[in-house]
Amino acid sequence: MSDFNRDSFSLKGQVAIVTGGARGLGKFYTTALSLYGADVMVVSRTQNGWDEIRQVVEKNGQRVGFFQQDVTAPGAADQIIAATLKEFDHFDILVNNAGVIIRNDVLDYKDEDWQKVIDINLNATYYLSHAAAKVLTKQKHGKIINIGSMLSYRAGKYIFPYTASKHAVLGLTRAYADALAKDNVQVNGLAPGYISTDMTKALQEDPVRGPEIAAHIPSGDWGVPADLMGPMIFLASHASDYVTGVMVPVDGGYLLR
Ligand code: NDP
Repeated sequence: MSDFNRDSFSLKGQVAIVTGGARGLGKFYTTALSLYGADVMVVSRTQNGWDEIRQVVEKNGQRVGFFQQDVTAPGAADQIIAATLKEFDHFDILVNNAGVIIRNDVLDYKDEDWQKVIDINLNATYYLSHAAAKVLTKQKHGKIINIGSMLSYRAGKYIFPYTASKHAVLGLTRAYADALAKDNVQVNGLAPGYISTDMTKALQEDPVRGPEIAAHIPSGDWGVPADLMGPMIFLASHASDYVTGVMVPVDGGYLLR
């Protein structure tokens, strides 16, 4: 970045691809990116949430495209990039957000569940980053933002592949950042902490785990999805052009303890 000004956080004229961008935390990334001026290509396995997120993006004055695709299908990455280029002519930002978590006891953990989690959380992130990098390096600018987790740093005794995949996403983020820096493509990550969502409601309300987790967070509070929106805009925008290879924990300080 040669200059810093009020537009340094603007995404005007840019296009972002967000996997899983119509639901869960992904819809907050789509909302934030469009609020700051980006058009968004939402990729998801089903059409759940499409109507709602279309209204949000259009209210923010931006265009939204949709591509229904299982990110683990053979050839998915190339198809997602081709569909985005067809719809928008170019893209600048890739957010690898689609992810899944499957819990089980260690001795009961099923091979197929291991494979499924690794395929979505890690392999799809790799293949889509690879396909995106071919475009971003040629145009000499771009951002890849991977979604990690507290499990990028810590272990979870019922979630082996999730822990392995999210540690690997951190490694992939660093390796890609190193490889793409010379072409002005920054690769970073967000590691959401304990965020109140429908998915985590049961955990938050668990009489043992809920208070345990809250007591471990220095701020004392679970996060809310909006807490992720500012860090996402920072990593997506020119304001972070000299930042690469980091995963930003958005965790109220959880990792400090
Ligand atoms: P949700 O289950 O709410 O949403 C997952 C999204 O990913 C959906 O849009 C889903 O699409 C999409 N998706 C899942 N599998 C595929 C697939 N094979 N192909 C295409 N799209 C797929 O997840 P969260 O919002 O909770 O999580 C999003 C990311 O954030 C994940 O990477 C997760 O690990 C991470 N994370 C979440 C935390 C939390 O508190 N929720 C904490 C830390 C990290 P569809 O709706 O069509 O199924």
